[in-house]
Amino acid sequence: SALTLTGCGREEAAPATDDSSAATSGFDAGAGIGVALPQKTSENWVLAEQLFNDGLTEAGYEPDVQFANSGVSEQQNQISSMITNGVKVLVVGAIDGAQLGTQLQQAKDAGITVIAYDRLLTNTENVDYYVAYDNFQVGELQGQALLDGMEAAKPEGPYNIELFAGSPDDANAKVFFDGAMSILQPEIDNGNVVVVSGQETFDQAVTQGWKAENAQKRMDTLLSGNYGSTELDGVLSPNDTLARAILTSVEGAGKELPVVTGQDSEVESVKSIMAGKQYSTINKDTSALVEHAIEMVNNLQAGEELEINDPDSYDNGVKTVPAYLLEPQIVTKENAAEAYANNPALAELTK
Ligand code: BGC
Repeated sequence: SALTLTGCGREEAAPATDDSSAATSGFDAGAGIGVALPQKTSENWVLAEQLFNDGLTEAGYEPDVQFANSGVSEQQNQISSMITNGVKVLVVGAIDGAQLGTQLQQAKDAGITVIAYDRLLTNTENVDYYVAYDNFQVGELQGQALLDGMEAAKPEGPYNIELFAGSPDDANAKVFFDGAMSILQPEIDNGNVVVVSGQETFDQAVTQGWKAENAQKRMDTLLSGNYGSTELDGVLSPNDTLARAILTSVEGAGKELPVVTGQDSEVESVKSIMAGKQYSTINKDTSALVEHAIEMVNNLQAGEELEINDPDSYDNGVKTVPAYLLEPQIVTKENAAEAYANNPALAELTK
């Protein structure tokens, strides 16, 4: 059930005359809005740049949208500059959600509202809202798709699998993994699913920097060490970029392709799914997420309440960050045409 909070993150209680919070009192319609994006580790981030620039400009703001391709210190510097330049809202997709404490304190001191975008900002008091697709549900959908795909390929278990997770500095990575394991662990416990390498923990499964080359290397090693004459039925992959790297590794080893999950509906992966290689992806329409983030900015600008539909799931280590979560959707070859009906570029690939 939706709970509505005021602009400063408290339950609605303050009378209109209460101007103790900068966030509830609105700001100039033409204000600067800072959007700090991470590295271009997947297509969704590249899309977000354009969508934020266009959407914020159209809404009358002055957007400052930056990628931090060289890493955490570049992102820290970009955020500091945005604060110095007087932005009223900071929208942050962090490279490392735990490394922005100093900058977010500066933002708080300057009366700036901070929205964590797609990735949570952790270990800080100074994050006001979170907007994202439901990350735990993404993981659940991936875990279930892996089981479904393996059963469709081979009706009887046990199934041999390997597990991959995203980058440990991205707070989402653990949530995706936990969601998937909530589905897979019972099957591992009852023997229907076997992680042949024995590498079952998040720490063992991580892929530093969400880098394809790291996933490919790990898959090469897993194959040569464990699958000489053993069949590999499935691989849990947290996103499309890593899924394609895993498939490349398996192809290189000359093994039959396993069921591989993904996320993001990247063009190359949708093609791969239609060609019967990658098994699944997740539809997290970036334009809907950016649109919602801009709606939050509009609410803040007008001094209106923000809509929150998940007030208590996202504990960042210091506080529970009020969140607005969108619903992800599983996509396989079977429902791809339907899933992408509203996205002409992807719909075209399903014909
Ligand atoms: C996003 C995923 C993306 C990954 C790598 C995550 O934080 O939620 O959609 O695949 O970053 O870019």
